[in-house]
Amino acid sequence: MSESKLIESDYDVVIVGGGMVGASVASALLQASETRQLRIAIVEGQSFDFNFAAGFDPRVSAISLASRQFMETLSVWPEIAQHRLCAYQGMSVWDADGTGAVDFSASDMGQAALGHIIENRVVLASLLSQLKQQPSLQWYCPNKLEALERLDDRWVLTMANGLECTAKLVIGADGAHSVVRNLCDIEQTEMPYGHRAVVTTIKTEQAHGCVARQRFMSTGPLAFLPLLDDAGGEGYCSVVWSLDEDAADQVLGLDDDDFCQAISKASEFCLGEVVSASRRFSFPLTQRHVNQYVRPGVALVGDAAHTIHPLAGQGVNLGFMDAAALVEELNRGVRRGLPVGDLSVLRRYERRRKGPNTLMIQSMRGFKELFAADSLSVRWARNMGLSMTDQVGPLKHHFMAHAMGLKGDVPRMARGIKI
Ligand SMILES: Cc1cc2nc3c(=O)[nH]c(=O)nc-3n(C[C@H](O)[C@H](O)[C@H](O)COP(=O)(O)OP(=O)(O)OC[C@H]3O[C@@H](n4cnc5c(N)ncnc54)[C@H](O)[C@@H]3O)c2cc1C
Repeated sequence: MSESKLIESDYDVVIVGGGMVGASVASALLQASETRQLRIAIVEGQSFDFNFAAGFDPRVSAISLASRQFMETLSVWPEIAQHRLCAYQGMSVWDADGTGAVDFSASDMGQAALGHIIENRVVLASLLSQLKQQPSLQWYCPNKLEALERLDDRWVLTMANGLECTAKLVIGADGAHSVVRNLCDIEQTEMPYGHRAVVTTIKTEQAHGCVARQRFMSTGPLAFLPLLDDAGGEGYCSVVWSLDEDAADQVLGLDDDDFCQAISKASEFCLGEVVSASRRFSFPLTQRHVNQYVRPGVALVGDAAHTIHPLAGQGVNLGFMDAAALVEELNRGVRRGLPVGDLSVLRRYERRRKGPNTLMIQSMRGFKELFAADSLSVRWARNMGLSMTDQVGPLKHHFMAHAMGLKGDVPRMARGIKI
C-alpha cells in the first residue's frame, strides 16, 4: 500500500494500527448500517508484503467459532477459506506429571470443528484485500502515529512524516506497546508471566488427524497446533512452547537435530518423532490489562487493551470480540444521534468487554500457576480436576463453549448477524 496524499484531513474515526484487530474494526465500521457513512482512516506503521509461497507463517492463531462467525458477517471468511487452514476436530490436553487428561471433540459440541488454525498473515491479508476495495477508507501506510493533542471536541493526530489529521474518535488498535494508550496516559496492570514462547513449524512422523495437542509441564505448556499443507497433508504442526527465560535460551541455541529430539521428548512422542523444524522465533509473554478501555474520543481494542498467555489461544479472539462490540455500540450511538466518540457510548463498550476479558486473563494466570506448582497435593488435585472435567459432560461442554466464544455476551456480528 503506498502512502496516501492528505485529501481529507478531518475524520470521524481514525484507527491507529491496521493489524488483525484494527483491520476488523475498519471492515465492521464500513459495513454497519449507520457507521458506514462515517469518514474513516487507518494509520499503520508497517507496509505489509505477504508471501504465501514461503512456507508456513510461524505466527498462527487458533480462531474460535465466534471469530469465524465475525469474519463471515464481514464477508471475509470466503477469502480466508481459500488459503490453507486446518479445521480441528479434537483437542487433547494432558498433565506431564500424572494421569490427568481431557479430550474435547467437535462432535460432542454438535459442531463440525472446534475452531481453525490459521496463519496470522492469511487473516490479515484477507481483511486488507477487502479494505483495499473500499474507496472511502483513507490509508496512511506506512506511517506511525507520534503525537495526539485534544482540541475542543476532537483529536489532532501527528504522524511520523509530519502529516496531521483530526478525528472525533481515535481507536487504538496498535498492539501491546500501544502509542495511543501511552499518549492518553491510560494506565495498565502489567505482570510478566516469566515465560517466553518459542514458536516454529515442525514436521512429525505421524499425522496429527486435525487434533490440537497440549502437554502441561511444570516448566510451561507445549502446544502442537495442526496445520494442513497445500496438498491437504497432516504432517505439519505449529508449535508454541512456553518456557522460562533460561530454558528458552537453551532450546533456541540447540542445533536442528537436537531441537527435534528435545521437542519429541517434551511432547511424549505424541506424534512419533519430530522429523524437522523450521526457523525458531521467540516472544516474551506478559499479562497486560488497561484500567480503562476508553477516554472521551478514545477507545482501545485488542492487544492495546490486553495481552494474555497464549496457552488457550485466546488473544486475537478477545480482540475480535472487542472490535465487534465496539462497532455495535458505535452503530447504535450514531442511530440515536449521539456524537461519534461520545463517552456514554464508549462506556457501554467498556462495560461489555472488561468483564469477559478480565475473566479470561485471570483464568489463564490461574492455569499457568496451577501447572507450575509442584506440591504433591496441587498435582493430585489438578490431575483429579482434569479427569473429572473429562468425565463430566456438562463441565466439559461449559469449558469448550467458553473457548469457542459461544458463552456470555457475544456481539451480534460474532453471532453471524449483520447490523
Ligand atoms: C506465541 C503467540 C501465540 C499466539 N497464539 C494465539 C492463538 O492461537 N489464538 C489467539 O487468539 N491469539 C493468539 N496470540 C495472540 C495474538 O497473536 C494477538 O492477540 C494478536 O496478534 C493481536 O492483534 P492486534 O491487531 O491487537 O495487535 P497487533 O497484531 O500487534 O497489531 C498492531 C498493529 O499496529 C501497528 N502499530 C503499532 N504502533 C503503531 C503506531 N504508532 N502507528 C501506527 N501503527 C502502529 C503495528 O504495525 C501492527 O500492525 C498469540 C500470541 C503469541 C505471542
